[in-house]
Amino acid sequence: MDLTSYAELAVQLVNMGDELKNPFSLRALLEETGRTEAAARLTRRDIDALCELRDELAEVFTSAAEGDDADVVERLNGLLVRHPVHPQISGHDGQPWHLHLTEGGRVADALAVGSVMGLASVVTRLGVDRLGVCQAAPCRNAYLDTSSNRSRRYCSERCASRANVAAYRARKRGA
Ligand SMILES: [Zn+2]
Ligand SMILES: [Zn+2]
Repeated sequence: MDLTSYAELAVQLVNMGDELKNPFSLRALLEETGRTEAAARLTRRDIDALCELRDELAEVFTSAAEGDDADVVERLNGLLVRHPVHPQISGHDGQPWHLHLTEGGRVADALAVGSVMGLASVVTRLGVDRLGVCQAAPCRNAYLDTSSNRSRRYCSERCASRANVAAYRARKRGA
């Protein structure tokens, strides 16, 4: 199981914002990330549950960006209790036996377990400072910093260049 791809799912859910309420957008995201079975089974109830999860995941990123490690850990531990993992050994599509975090059940539960385990894995393997919030205001998108020197500040290239232009203009005004 690839927990980093699950951590990316947490980022994607947070950054969807209110688009998450649109079943077409969420279905498209699930299909793009290879979760076709989840996309096909998605219901209105799943979407409501995922909207609540998104708010809680956003709080985790905000606390991480503020350097409040204890709060990040407390929030993730709370989420781990509410979304317990039910691992299953699976061997589909000619692949060797491997672990799936969860089988069956509601789509929202499976996605919640995955996102929370993904973030817990990043925090314990790489550190809380690998979770961040984009610093190109007014953007508040979440990101995962997987750079070797922990230098990431923005959610995207677009936000990075927007911030650079703003900094350049500010310097020019100051000169
Ligand atoms: Zn599999
Ligand atoms: Zn951004």
